[in-house]
Amino acid sequence: MVIPVMIGMPRARGASEVSAVGVPGDPLVDTYGRVHRDLRVSLTDRCSLRCTYCMPEQGNEWLARSSILTLDEIVRIATVAASAGITTFRLTGGEPLLRTDIVEVVRRLAAIDGPDGRPVEIAMTTNGIRLPELLPGLIEAGLGRLNISLDTLDRERFRDLTRRDRLDDVLAGIAAAAASDLRPLKINAVAMRDVNDDELVDLVQFALDHDAELRFIEQMPLDAGHTWSRDHMVTRDEILDRLSARWTLTPVPGRGGAPAERWMLDGGPRTVGVIASVTAPFCGDCDRLRLTADGQLRNCLFSTTEYDLLPILRAEGGGDEEIDGMLRACVRGKLPGHAINDPGFLQPARGMNAIGG
Ligand code: SAM
Repeated sequence: MVIPVMIGMPRARGASEVSAVGVPGDPLVDTYGRVHRDLRVSLTDRCSLRCTYCMPEQGNEWLARSSILTLDEIVRIATVAASAGITTFRLTGGEPLLRTDIVEVVRRLAAIDGPDGRPVEIAMTTNGIRLPELLPGLIEAGLGRLNISLDTLDRERFRDLTRRDRLDDVLAGIAAAAASDLRPLKINAVAMRDVNDDELVDLVQFALDHDAELRFIEQMPLDAGHTWSRDHMVTRDEILDRLSARWTLTPVPGRGGAPAERWMLDGGPRTVGVIASVTAPFCGDCDRLRLTADGQLRNCLFSTTEYDLLPILRAEGGGDEEIDGMLRACVRGKLPGHAINDPGFLQPARGMNAIGG
């Protein structure tokens, strides 16, 4: 029998230690004592690429346009979330830059008062393709942090992996970000066996050359085709082995709730990160919630339960207390871990593009 991986699993706490229910204004604390500070907001399930580990080449079942949250609806949810202690909104998708009102989304969210009246932080994960035209407006509107995804530096591989010949556009987006003042800048790469695992050192060097930090992500079972296999993914330990041949790696202490473990390269200050969701889960410190583009709250990437905000948002007289109540129900339902390594694990029905990565 396979024993579920327990690394990073939270400890259930007694009712006297934490309130897992709360009332409007209280922080979002789950039954394991995890306080939620980060809301990932998916703005669309559409994307300009078709990465094999994420979306099908054709025949994707797109979310109904009528169900996509409007700008006002997103701002309303985010305002309630901020009053419940959310301090960071990370915009994602799909490809967030495909949203025609993206600059306004950033501007309106950045204007929300966070807990204690402090400004909230607006971050974005993007494929970078539209950054050259949009980045100045996004920064002026209040974008604070940027992660750009890039899995290979080889044009043919890029085309095979994303099913689009757009490496040059992504590189132009990274160049635009590197030329801006937005720091820290991060580049995300999914490491895959026999696809890009011979490029790990080159990808880190590319990031360093652009004053960015490379973050490798272990491939997770979230592809639309349900073809993920443990053999195909490249583990954190393998990534570290490969990088150790080029740099001396020293762990950066003080990870907190961050998904990435980080290492200094040759004593620093330059660093590399690994998000080892599969082989070293960090669920015990998870402070994240997710909002899909069609108004479903999720408490985990791998959850099979969603909490539907659309009826509240679109009902006559639906109040903010009901949105707050749904946020709390979602947090209350959070399990101790994602259970990818559990024999009974079931991949969620939605692909990553429809959940929001
Ligand atoms: N379109 C944007 C982008 O390319 O960054 C944002 C959405 S994308 C789903 C967010 C991140 O999720 C990307 O860095 C992507 O590589 C990662 N991702 C998608 N599917 C994944 C999977 N099955 N396993 C690990 N990471 C995945």
